[in-house]
Amino acid sequence: MRLKFHPIDLRLRHTFTISRSSKDTEQSVIVEIEHDGIIGIGEAAPSERYGESRDSVVAFLKKVDLSEFNDPFQIVDILDRIKILAKGNTSAKAAIDIALHDWLGKKVGLPLWKLWGLNKEKTPLTSFTIGIDSLNVIEQKVKEAEPYRILKVKVGVPNDQEIIKTIRKVTDKTIRVDANEGWKSRELARDKILWLEEQGVEFIEQPMPASDLEGTAWVRERVHIPIIADENVIQLSDLPNLQGAFDGINIKLMKCTGLREAMRMIHTAKAMHMKIMLGCMIESSVGISAAAQLAPVVDYADLDGNLLISNDPYLGVDVQDSKLILNDLSGLGVVRRKEINS
Ligand code: MG
Repeated sequence: MRLKFHPIDLRLRHTFTISRSSKDTEQSVIVEIEHDGIIGIGEAAPSERYGESRDSVVAFLKKVDLSEFNDPFQIVDILDRIKILAKGNTSAKAAIDIALHDWLGKKVGLPLWKLWGLNKEKTPLTSFTIGIDSLNVIEQKVKEAEPYRILKVKVGVPNDQEIIKTIRKVTDKTIRVDANEGWKSRELARDKILWLEEQGVEFIEQPMPASDLEGTAWVRERVHIPIIADENVIQLSDLPNLQGAFDGINIKLMKCTGLREAMRMIHTAKAMHMKIMLGCMIESSVGISAAAQLAPVVDYADLDGNLLISNDPYLGVDVQDSKLILNDLSGLGVVRRKEINS
């Protein structure tokens, strides 16, 4: 088995701002695993929040030697070996996991959703993210988001209420809200959420810093809409700690090391009676299509990372009238857009 990788720059349609950062491009790394004449493709979209960068992804991938393996079907053994090369590096590990799964699907000639026994008609609608911006630009973005039926709005700044009022002025669509740990005190978080409930917000994601689980549990007892964990849940081992503080989890392949771990988290979350959301970073259609393979078994999807960029080198899962549309191509169902050179 041979591993190759190359960086790609993903250009954002709009500067993307959340409560802690702002950016115009995202640095991603495409991974290819070749064996037996078949190439499996994967992607790492590193996030600073989890201690990764493009440089750290490249450094990690350089340490990976797949030449000792001669059977990509041995995904468990291969990933266990890669896991212990270094701590963290979750998106780099996810890229390998995704590429192995793509290879496997291509080898047997089936899409992953079909291999897993899932019904592709059961994918949820995906939300479309509105980042933090000036009120004028937010209004413009909401108008551009006309084709999407659910908005996920980034908040966690002093003028949150103005942001929501601006959006409500132009639309009565379902709104989900993500504070990205932006509300630092429990009283502030409680008051903000109680106000958001009156604006018809469906749920709130990560209101408080991940370090304040106790504060989040305090808030949860005083509000009525579900609270979904994002920065508080990285991998499977985080789930038991969330009981009492959260109603659901946001699983991202780039945080959790890939599809194998994501599947384990889905089963565990169901056993804990928690809602499951599939989220993403700013990613090309490779990473998004990988996550979308699991979409038929989750409650909420926020798989719009590829919709926020203008130079996606790949085509995969489609979105029609907000619904995720999985195709029948094998593996991730991803093909390269020939006309675009990255
Ligand atoms: Mg989030």
